[in-house]
Amino acid sequence: MSLVGIVQANRGQQSNMKVVVLGAGVVGVTSAWYLYKQGFEVEVVDRRAAAGLEGSFANAGAVCPGFSGPWAAPGMMAKACRWLFEAQAPLKWHPQFSLAQWRWLWQFAANCSLERYQVNKVRMQRIAHYSQRCLRALQTETGLDYQQSAQGVLQLFGNEQEFAAASRASQVLTRFAVAHRLVDAREARRIEPALADACLPITGGLYLPDDEAGDCALFTQRLADWLSLHGVTFRFNTQVNALRLDDRHRVNGVLTHGAALDADAVVVALGCFSAPLLASVGIRLPIYPVKGYSATLSIHNSAAAPQVCVMYEHHKVMVTRLGDRLRAAGIAEISDHDTRPDDQKCAFVASIARGLFPDAGDYRTFQPWCGLRPMTPDGPGYVGATPLAGLFLACGQGTSGWTQAAGIGRIVADVIAGNTPDIDLTGLTMARL
Ligand SMILES: Cc1cc2nc3c(=O)[nH]c(=O)nc-3n(C[C@H](O)[C@H](O)[C@H](O)COP(=O)(O)OP(=O)(O)OC[C@H]3O[C@@H](n4cnc5c(N)ncnc54)[C@H](O)[C@@H]3O)c2cc1C
Repeated sequence: MSLVGIVQANRGQQSNMKVVVLGAGVVGVTSAWYLYKQGFEVEVVDRRAAAGLEGSFANAGAVCPGFSGPWAAPGMMAKACRWLFEAQAPLKWHPQFSLAQWRWLWQFAANCSLERYQVNKVRMQRIAHYSQRCLRALQTETGLDYQQSAQGVLQLFGNEQEFAAASRASQVLTRFAVAHRLVDAREARRIEPALADACLPITGGLYLPDDEAGDCALFTQRLADWLSLHGVTFRFNTQVNALRLDDRHRVNGVLTHGAALDADAVVVALGCFSAPLLASVGIRLPIYPVKGYSATLSIHNSAAAPQVCVMYEHHKVMVTRLGDRLRAAGIAEISDHDTRPDDQKCAFVASIARGLFPDAGDYRTFQPWCGLRPMTPDGPGYVGATPLAGLFLACGQGTSGWTQAAGIGRIVADVIAGNTPDIDLTGLTMARL
């Protein structure tokens, strides 16, 4: 039997129920895939002309459950204050006249204690590792090619202080049974030979052999194409304006720019734009955009470009090979929703890639990009049911939405179908509010 035949033969029996998924980013499209598998009639709505054009478009591409964890951590507030005065800081705060921003920051600060960090880390590790298993199974079932590679992630340290801090990270990874090794600079260069000509300082590294990488936008678009061929409807160029409720306060559809769409269930997967839509029906989620930048260039010298996904810790810039392209991504700005790429910031992330892999390509010509991470102050996003019947969440996955997408999609489909999810959902739903 063909792959398509196997998938169709394994579909569930919910075909009399229609689910509308709002948002065709990586989280919305993977949710659509699992809903399709459960046998639902599925329609995906997005304001853009194709899938994966916003936050999922040119991210770093790392599927790295090993790194999955909250940014709100002990010592983070002190670091953030120091970074306020550094031009090239990995995290920047631009104060806005926005109650949402100030409330988010307040909650972020409250989550920086060791106790909160440990709780949030466990929750994010749980969903991230589950998601990696789901993604591998999805890939096997569909045969999708998204320029994926499974060479691991190598975190590189630029000074002794960072290297020393890595032994604490190593203890945490051991606790979660994540395969990893602390390596010296020589071993780091053996793992990734293209580092031979690096001119940035390297004192050592932390290698996570089981982590992966792949082009998130390509995955999202190819999965959307696959689904369209198999009966899932994609309604592009359609702005969602409101959720529609019946007189029993049950969500029974959405109002779009063009039409009203009926639904038995609605999944909100609008990334950073989930919060305002949900607030209109009284559900207030602290999801705030944290801006990031990337630069993508053609690889001219394959031997000089990495096979392993490399994270340069000092500037928190990730460098990933995606087929014949190299991408550098990083910077976190707590500011607004404006996604016009800033050439200087994109050039900065490109300069880190150049410092590591100087001969890989022409660093003067790259594709700049700016995207928004839909971040919660504590770290985990939101998945599953809401207090309103017919309304479900798949949003707020922040820094690791690509890593978590398959797991989130699988869970939301299971919840709607009335199945018990495979993992404990404590701390991953809006019940924690
Ligand atoms: C620089 C950078 C690097 C990153 N690197 C990684 C990484 O290496 N690994 C990782 O796991 N994650 C990474 N991330 C995070 C990841 O990219 C996001 O978490 C993920 O893409 C979010 O996906 P989403 O589907 O929730 O949102 P989006 O991809 O933003 O999708 C939301 C969709 O909703 C649509 N939409 C919004 N409002 C409306 C409306 N009113 N009507 C209709 N449609 C609407 C949008 O058009 C969009 O298509 C990175 C992010 C950035 C910015």
